[in-house]
Amino acid sequence: MFLVVTTFAGVTAYSLVTPFLGDTLEQLAEASFRQVGEQFEARLRNDPSLTEQEINVFATNRGVQWGVVRSGGEILRGDLDDYDKNAVAAALARMAPATELEEVESGEREGQTLATYAAPIRVSGESETAIVFTRYYTESDLENAEAAMRHINTLALLAGALALLIAGFSGYVVANLISRRLNRLDVAARRLAAGNFDERITTRVEDEVGSLGETFNAMASSLKGAFRQVEQEKARGQAILDGMTDAVIGVDKDLNATFLNPRARELLENSDPAFHARLQEILAKSRFSGSVTEPEAEAGDRIIEIRATPLGDGALAILRDVTEERQVERAKAEFIANASHELKTPLFALSGYLEMFEDEEDEEVRKSFLKEMQAQTERLHNLARTLLDLSRLDSGALTFRLEEVDLEELLHELKRDFAYTGRQINIHAEKGVPPVKTDPVQLRRMLAILLDNALKYSGGPEGREPVDLELYRENGQALVSVTDRGCGIPESEIPYIFDRFYRAQGSSRADGTGLGLALAGEISQHLGGDIRVESEQNCGSVFSVELPLTSVTSEGSDGNTSSDEQISIFS
Ligand code: ADP
Repeated sequence: MFLVVTTFAGVTAYSLVTPFLGDTLEQLAEASFRQVGEQFEARLRNDPSLTEQEINVFATNRGVQWGVVRSGGEILRGDLDDYDKNAVAAALARMAPATELEEVESGEREGQTLATYAAPIRVSGESETAIVFTRYYTESDLENAEAAMRHINTLALLAGALALLIAGFSGYVVANLISRRLNRLDVAARRLAAGNFDERITTRVEDEVGSLGETFNAMASSLKGAFRQVEQEKARGQAILDGMTDAVIGVDKDLNATFLNPRARELLENSDPAFHARLQEILAKSRFSGSVTEPEAEAGDRIIEIRATPLGDGALAILRDVTEERQVERAKAEFIANASHELKTPLFALSGYLEMFEDEEDEEVRKSFLKEMQAQTERLHNLARTLLDLSRLDSGALTFRLEEVDLEELLHELKRDFAYTGRQINIHAEKGVPPVKTDPVQLRRMLAILLDNALKYSGGPEGREPVDLELYRENGQALVSVTDRGCGIPESEIPYIFDRFYRAQGSSRADGTGLGLALAGEISQHLGGDIRVESEQNCGSVFSVELPLTSVTSEGSDGNTSSDEQISIFS
């Protein structure tokens, strides 16, 4: 290709230059004759009185004939054979040199060209004289010129060819070098495209290709940075997806899974075909109708919320296990219904007694109504207090104060609190049980609930059987138990007695609300303890509270018995 272009350029240049070269040669011949005249004029200016001999030498040296002629054409001096009279006439008329070229038409010089130069000259004793130089240009002169022309042509061709060769060779070398460097760039670009971001180009020459290389290097390093960032983002996204408790599933247009996070895999493995079919149905629907949400899809015993949204050609689904959430919602609704019911009962009773109280005149009956109203008010008060405590515990708003508590002393205080019942309460305390670091108020509240239940479910104020409060040490823990010999709890109901508003079926349901044990359970949990129940119907129940001793003794051993420590509870 390069050679073709170079040859074409050479041929074109030659064809353009050749005609000018021919013309230039002719013009040079004419100019060289005219030069003779100009040289003579210059000579004359230097030396106005030239001798005939000097003129003769001048003409001989330049290969021309000369003569001095009158205006009438008469040759006075010189060796002229012939001359163009028009040149003499023109020179004398203008009083300035004139040159004429004329072809000889006959005679022995036929076909030759006669060149005549005439210039006015003063010759003593003559008037209107001119000096004339002539020269005949023959065929051979022209042939010589053509030969010279051919020679010049050849030389020009040679010079052109040589120039083209040199230019071609150096162009080829330079083009080869550039092409090699471009090739290196090409290879590097391919490697970069294949993911090798460490690919760099060494640039030694500071030209366009060099600066292209530098730009390439800058681009490669910024691509490397951008790719690293993308990788980091990808890893972060992957970590988030892997750590998500929600399941994420991506599908293509044929609903084939393209992406599953670990939770999604687990969920799909542990769910039945019916759930898979429902999921596919929702994903398919979302591809055509935008985001779709199924709030409660059943996957075995779990409730799953499915949110699907179109993504590219396929769709993406986020699956959330809402079993606990729904249970809590249901429990909340149940709780509100139960709480309203529990509040309504004493309120109705109160308003009923009030109405009857107004109409009743018998003082004794009125007194009994008042007593009933007091009892109902007390019940309402207890209910409100328990509900408030439970809600505080739920929201973590209840602050527990930790103090060194002597459990035996606490049991005696409790016994004193319940002395008004007139029931027999026995205390059995093992010696040497160390104090426990706990909140004395909440612990007392919890034990009071258990003692109240024990008294209530073993005959109430009329009950004869005693209730035992025991304190002993077991497996590094302090154990406080409340034992009654009352109606007991059916085994099937034991798992539920700590649920809010749960009241076991039985003869002695008394005037409970079903919230006491729920509150006791929550308090024990927040105190880091545990409540155990052993019960036999018609024989009685034992409620035991375990309180951790280990941390207490270790903290107690360093002598820190201050009572100002506080812990905040987050339920
Ligand atoms: P209540 O206000 O009904 O006593 P609790 O939450 O304190 O509510 O107790 C829940 C249920 O557990 C009671 O309704 C009762 O049936 C049963 N229960 C609690 N303590 C005893 C006990 N010492 N003896 C027999 N049954 C008990």
